[in-house]
Amino acid sequence: MIQKEWLESQKDKLCAMLGETLSWDQFAQECLIEPRALKSYRMKEGSTNYRFMSDAVVGLIEKTIENHELRSKLKLSHTTALASRRDHEEIAVRGLASMVQKVCESVFIDGRALTAVSERPGSQTGLTQEQRKIMAMISRIQIESGQEDSASQIHLLLNNCKTPFSKWLNCEAVIYNRWGNVSLLDSDSLMPTSDCIGLGKGFSNISAEFEERLFKELIEILSTHSKEKGDQHYSEVRRFVIKNPICSKKEFQNLANRSSFNLAMLIQSKFYEPIPKGFEDQEGKIEQCYHCSSLLEKTASGIFCSLKACRLSNNTLSKGRREAKDFLRTKKSIERFWVEPGLDELRLFEKLQSIGIPNVELFPFRDRTDISVKGDIGIDLKSYANPEILGQVLSASIKGLSYYREKIICIPDWRLADNPDYMKRLKAAANLEHVHFLTVSEVPLAINSLLQGEPT
Ligand SMILES: [Zn+2]
Repeated sequence: MIQKEWLESQKDKLCAMLGETLSWDQFAQECLIEPRALKSYRMKEGSTNYRFMSDAVVGLIEKTIENHELRSKLKLSHTTALASRRDHEEIAVRGLASMVQKVCESVFIDGRALTAVSERPGSQTGLTQEQRKIMAMISRIQIESGQEDSASQIHLLLNNCKTPFSKWLNCEAVIYNRWGNVSLLDSDSLMPTSDCIGLGKGFSNISAEFEERLFKELIEILSTHSKEKGDQHYSEVRRFVIKNPICSKKEFQNLANRSSFNLAMLIQSKFYEPIPKGFEDQEGKIEQCYHCSSLLEKTASGIFCSLKACRLSNNTLSKGRREAKDFLRTKKSIERFWVEPGLDELRLFEKLQSIGIPNVELFPFRDRTDISVKGDIGIDLKSYANPEILGQVLSASIKGLSYYREKIICIPDWRLADNPDYMKRLKAAANLEHVHFLTVSEVPLAINSLLQGEPT
């Protein structure tokens, strides 16, 4: 299909969904494209002003259609489910490329033997847990797309890496990104190909990839607003997600009405998913936690909040039963990176506001730090289980905290319950002189002292 026809078909689709006629300029606005640029895409091919659409532009149009489909159906549409599946597949493929490089490095450069056993502390061979996860993701893609599972065995998997993806991993992401002719290993030298190096570039780990992907999309939408408005929307969205670990479809509509429509749709389609059947009782109802609004979970030892940060700080209390079908819950990666740490961040933020600390901001400058006071004191809340790992991370970089004159790293009190030496070990591991290390409950008093110029 030529470009002009494709655009017309997309516009028709959107008009049909909205039940109204859109001008080309209105269509451009809906898709966040410059109207003038859209005009040049619709020109006759070969004419002076004709321009070819980049993948990014095609993506914007497809996303708009997807989002509107969501709104009209108010449930996860097939298109979005596909897009989300593609996201998973892309992460798995990039993870595989990165893994292939590491395995080759270890075999050819360090001279280690390649074995399929799991890596053990001190062992020179074997696969890491992360590498096993990547293999499992590839296996799943193969099974889901009707191909033979060759990823459950590392030697078999590496053997396949010598042939193009189209022969053994012909999934949605490979087709969409035109990676069909990519081989990860050179069949003669058995070294990673340039494509493999390119694909694996910048891949850190699976969880970070998911978070980064969502974050990038969010920032793209925010960038269509002014800097100030964008910062404000960012803070609003984070707060919304933390406050609504499960969320009714009506609440999404309210968010769309008071904030940006595109933003609300992105949040609904990418950050939330249907509630798993396991949480429903026989009447199709779920029970909501009184403290954090998340799901209460029935386990062999009783009913508990599904969020650890809440479970460890409060006794189980129900807010009531809800119809499961009317609600969505945050995806695991969002729960892990936003909701779980966010509970303490939000609680601390609200506490500081309630005791009259002036100019307290939550997630200022799109997450430069968690909380800032008068733009002068930066507070980052960290909930790492291991103080040594957190110490290492901090001594490498304190990131956004460096913008603030007074820097506070604080740890949720529940982290110390089973680890009373936590703060001592953290201070020793981080070895940062100009940072205050405090527990969340110590912060309000410390802020008061800092504001009055007293030593903390
Ligand atoms: Zn809870």
